[in-house]
Amino acid sequence: MKDRMEEILSTATPTLKEDQIEVLMRYGETRETHAGQVLSRAGDDYDFIVVLEGALEVVDDFAGQARTIVIQRAGGFVGDLNLLTGQAQYVSVMVHEGGEVLAIPPERLKEVVTEEANLSDIILKAFLARRSWEMRNGGTGLRLVGSRHSMDTARLREFAARNRLPHVWIELEDDPNAEALLERFGAKPSETPVAIWQSKAALKNPTNAELAQVIGLAVDAPRKQTYDLVVIGTGPAGLGAAVYGASEGLATLALESIALGGQAGTSSRIENYLGFPVGLSGFELASRALIQANKFGARTAVPLEAVGLRRGEDGHYRIGLSEGGEVVARSVIAATGARYRRLEVPRLERFEGVSVHHAATEAEAQRCEGEEVAVVGGGNSAGQAALFLAGRTRRVYLLIRGDDLGKGMSRYLVDRITDARNVELLADTEVRELLGEDRLDGVVVEDNRSGARRTLGVRALFVFIGAEANTGWLQGAVELDERGFVLTGRELDGSVLDDDWQERSREPFLLETSMPGVFAAGDVRSGSIKRCASAVGEGAMAVRFVHQYLADAGAQRA
Ligand SMILES: Cc1cc2nc3c(=O)[nH]c(=O)nc-3n(C[C@H](O)[C@H](O)[C@H](O)COP(=O)(O)OP(=O)(O)OC[C@H]3O[C@@H](n4cnc5c(N)ncnc54)[C@H](O)[C@@H]3O)c2cc1C
Repeated sequence: MKDRMEEILSTATPTLKEDQIEVLMRYGETRETHAGQVLSRAGDDYDFIVVLEGALEVVDDFAGQARTIVIQRAGGFVGDLNLLTGQAQYVSVMVHEGGEVLAIPPERLKEVVTEEANLSDIILKAFLARRSWEMRNGGTGLRLVGSRHSMDTARLREFAARNRLPHVWIELEDDPNAEALLERFGAKPSETPVAIWQSKAALKNPTNAELAQVIGLAVDAPRKQTYDLVVIGTGPAGLGAAVYGASEGLATLALESIALGGQAGTSSRIENYLGFPVGLSGFELASRALIQANKFGARTAVPLEAVGLRRGEDGHYRIGLSEGGEVVARSVIAATGARYRRLEVPRLERFEGVSVHHAATEAEAQRCEGEEVAVVGGGNSAGQAALFLAGRTRRVYLLIRGDDLGKGMSRYLVDRITDARNVELLADTEVRELLGEDRLDGVVVEDNRSGARRTLGVRALFVFIGAEANTGWLQGAVELDERGFVLTGRELDGSVLDDDWQERSREPFLLETSMPGVFAAGDVRSGSIKRCASAVGEGAMAVRFVHQYLADAGAQRA
């Protein structure tokens, strides 16, 4: 574990060579610095800073308790992913030893990242490693105070984890300073969860959107414009569609209800994505795609949930939003994916979000570090979760209903699970009871051949058992299959196609739904292959059909 942290730290703090700095000089301006000077405060807009001479100190100064994160000397640089995503910064930057720096404004840094291949790689890798380090080390700027038994605390923690917002979680029951901190910010324990941002704002049980707004996460999507293409969902399919749509000149907006990256964003390592032989995390995939989408001018809005879809008399689509209002589009790509099915076991709701999870990310791992946990499911996501948790917990029980792990899981994962010292496979096994009051104390499992029962002393249960489509917002608008996934192209029964189709005298395109001009891509589509690469591919393909649809629609109007 220590080696891994050392590796992250060394990627996070590279030293630029002289010729690399020379290239960067074209994008910014030099400034003299003096010891003790504050270059920027947490919460401010800020520049990418390269140290030319002297040294800078990066500080987490939450509530007046300054903590040095790193000192950057000549050739080092200060900045993180927020510079590319438009968020405020989490840390303050002070001059440790006077000298000279090169300051590059965020807009120019985006040019560096998209035009200077060699530098782009070093900077992006450092930014991603810095974020990983911050996530592991309690992060900066944001404190979440709440009870581990509270569903709202779990919701906010999941939102922070899925969006990779570095934060410190202060547990009401265990942390002796929690109440004093709350009092200082004018809040009571009964008003938790409370989110404290940069010692400035204390939000009492905020919605995800309110928290996003305060920390500058939400990218506002202008409502007055009619977009050529609105993509709903920013998993691999939605991000693929946004990148291809914008790069091919379409005015593109992508809406996302929780976090960029979708299901893939909850994966700690995707190893079968083409071109990344050592694998990459879902967060890295999503961050890189976001930068690419921004480069081509796509807008993204997080968190913004679509709740309905209708076609107006002008032939444009109106996408209703959970916070009220709507966005208007000439074409739509539904890429809302799927979510894991719930386990059918009594008292599940009592533990959901607290001890029963559908993702295995840093947030969940932190809550069961050193304990025993169980993972239910026989697919790749369950396998990845089991291996990830094996590195953070004492023991992982992997429960599958069938008798052969190889039936639903890739060979490389099966082999690794077999080799893992602290992963125990329980085949032909199902969960029957959840034990405990506020938090899981154990689960009763049954061997479905013999009926024999045993109790596992696990403190958390991770469930990855097949998916349900996220199509609530499409009910009544487009045709769905019997499991709720979107029907497209030839899958559509001709009899459900209305007059609108007769007028067009054509059949739906391959990824087109029963509503002309509305396409579906990725896991949400009936019959799709549930994989990252196929989702990205379908996103790109759907854009091709959007062009055809818009050209036809234009011809019809002319
Ligand atoms: C833990 C895990 C590990 C995995 N590992 C691999 C792997 O190694 N290799 C591989 O190929 N595949 C893997 N998969 C599968 C892969 O992640 C999915 O096939 C892929 O993410 C599907 O992409 P998608 O864009 O279609 O949908 P999703 O990834 O499900 O994304 C859909 C997005 O839409 C958003 N959304 C839903 N409803 C709304 C709404 N109403 N309004 C706005 N937004 C909405 C969701 O929040 C979500 O972000 C894994 C999946 C999981 C869960």
